Amino acid sequence: MQSKISAFFKSTSASTTLRNDDDWENQQHHIINTYTRTRPNPNAVTSPSKTERTSTLVKNKRSYAQFHLDFGQSDFLLRACPTCGIKFTPGDPHDDKSHNEFHKSFTHGILFRGWSKETLIPLPSVESGRIILVAETDPSSHRKKAEEVIRMMEIELGSEWILHDLCKVYLFVSAQRVVGCLVAEPIKEAFKVVSPSVDSVKKRRVKPRSTTLQFGNVIFQREVEKKVASVSDSERMEGAIFCDTKPTAAACGIRAIWVTPSNRRKGIATHLLDAVRKSFCTGLELEPSQLAFSQPTSAGKALVTSYTGTGSFLAY
Ligand SMILES: [Zn+2]
Repeated sequence: MQSKISAFFKSTSASTTLRNDDDWENQQHHIINTYTRTRPNPNAVTSPSKTERTSTLVKNKRSYAQFHLDFGQSDFLLRACPTCGIKFTPGDPHDDKSHNEFHKSFTHGILFRGWSKETLIPLPSVESGRIILVAETDPSSHRKKAEEVIRMMEIELGSEWILHDLCKVYLFVSAQRVVGCLVAEPIKEAFKVVSPSVDSVKKRRVKPRSTTLQFGNVIFQREVEKKVASVSDSERMEGAIFCDTKPTAAACGIRAIWVTPSNRRKGIATHLLDAVRKSFCTGLELEPSQLAFSQPTSAGKALVTSYTGTGSFLAY
């Protein structure tokens, strides 16, 4: 028993001695010590240990901030108003104020205090406002006001085609706002619209090509990603006008008519057309059928058909 106990202590002692003296064991200790020293040392020059990197990653994963990448996209943080088309940053006080002002000008008409010398076109039927003619010889301040209104029209009708130097601009003014505008120009000839038959429209439609390929007994069916005619395409087709090839003499061309969105269906476009008929040719009142219209939209076509009383109006 005693011998065994002695052997036990001897053995332990020998083992300790062995561990202390052995190079390999010392090297192991050295590695462990290095590991425990570098972890808490924030000033360590060496690169962070794997443990530290993992710890950093875990911290990063806890950050849920949403980043937006600005690659120069034009609509970054912007929203376009579906009514007036203006792009603005919602929540930005300056943007919101600017948009509200512009939106009201677009939907209700731009503010107009009046001029001391106005060329009024008197119409007994007009009770809710007055029609002012702005001609090419008018002061530049009058022309500039007309141009301001036309910029509003361009939002819906397309830009940089409406106005030129020979145009006469008719403004419908009501409650100190310009609520409607008509642009007319002198022309020499126009073409009578002929209504296309249903058959002629059908003939214009392109037949779809075969979508099968056959090699011997093997037939492949092609998957055709066809661009389906959008509503606007079909509307354009229905709204397309076909004209007689023989020209008709005409004097007055209506380039564009526009009424602010909140003032539509009040007869303002009709009043403007009446004003043009009565005033465009000096000393001569034109008949509705003598007015010619420049490529009307489908809404414009409905107005013209109603105003002239025929689908065979003059176009140019
Ligand atoms: Zn708007």
